[in-house]
Amino acid sequence: MVPVATQAVVKTLTAEQVRETKSQILICNTYHLHLKPGEEIIKKSGGLHNFMNWQKPLMTDSGGFQVFSLGFGRDFKMGKMLNKEESLSIKSGHQPKSLKIARDGVFFQSPVDGRKLFLGPRESIKIQESLGADIIFNFDECPPPIADYEYTKKSLERTHRWAIASLQAKGYKLQAQSLFGIVQGGKFKDLRLESAKFIGGLPFDGFGIGGELGFDKKEMFLMLNWVTKILPEQKPRHLLGNGHIGDLIKIFKSGVDTIDCIIPTHYARHGIAFTSSGKLDLAKSVFLKDKNPLDKNCHCFVCQNYKRNYISHLFRAKEITPLSLLTFHNLYFFNTYIEGIRDKIKQGEF
Ligand SMILES: [Zn+2]
Repeated sequence: MVPVATQAVVKTLTAEQVRETKSQILICNTYHLHLKPGEEIIKKSGGLHNFMNWQKPLMTDSGGFQVFSLGFGRDFKMGKMLNKEESLSIKSGHQPKSLKIARDGVFFQSPVDGRKLFLGPRESIKIQESLGADIIFNFDECPPPIADYEYTKKSLERTHRWAIASLQAKGYKLQAQSLFGIVQGGKFKDLRLESAKFIGGLPFDGFGIGGELGFDKKEMFLMLNWVTKILPEQKPRHLLGNGHIGDLIKIFKSGVDTIDCIIPTHYARHGIAFTSSGKLDLAKSVFLKDKNPLDKNCHCFVCQNYKRNYISHLFRAKEITPLSLLTFHNLYFFNTYIEGIRDKIKQGEF
């Protein structure tokens, strides 16, 4: 699992603490770091690894997902998953309100200072080269989940054109950085297959699977199985932005190697602990009388030293320390869980 370090930090933790959660790699956000502090500042600090004191592997996404979240995502207030009842539809030719999707990239306004900005495959690669992560991603369009077939098909043509432009921009000059191509295609089987064939046939170092992942979990697993069957087996596959703990075994069984996911850290900041007996909501007053550790099977320093009653009290008192304790425990818990899956794969039990 790749914890999310959007602004070059896993929220609430120091890099030393993140290392102790057994995390091996982090993903930072190209778009956010481009806006603040800007890639030049990071480059002059010796690159992202030095800047954030993280000497283990790093990924940066391409910024493509922000095209979706600042555009149609904002217009329709939606995430990657939708309810089936949703009746809206985005058709071919539609443009989001706050940005313009053009042939070679996206025009938008900086939410920081209102500057007019342009981001396309060439710009994204250039920024990611300056940031200096080990694994970088091609610039893509993540089509909104309510896009119709025609919109998604047009969007996929753009993503494929941008994939080639990303490869050309990188030009194999920095072998130290691996470039991953992103498979899109929305919820449509033929487009997903076409994208897996096209992107899988290009000389990327690995692959990302992005975008709309079906209206329900069953569709997501079907889609993952279609795509992973086509992608070259000897190259890594990364599932972008997905990983509920209950889905992890199925996700890895489908042939995905790595995932990045905000769930352990995001839930922690909302008072939720993941444990071997399910999720705990530490905001609930019942935990004020509970003298157990978050999880008695967990060996993390939080579970060795702190009790549910204290963490619940701190959270209810709106202190900031419990956010960091819960983030540490959740990351350690997810990493230990996935370690178990890795061991099973090694032993051929999968
Ligand atoms: Zn723990």
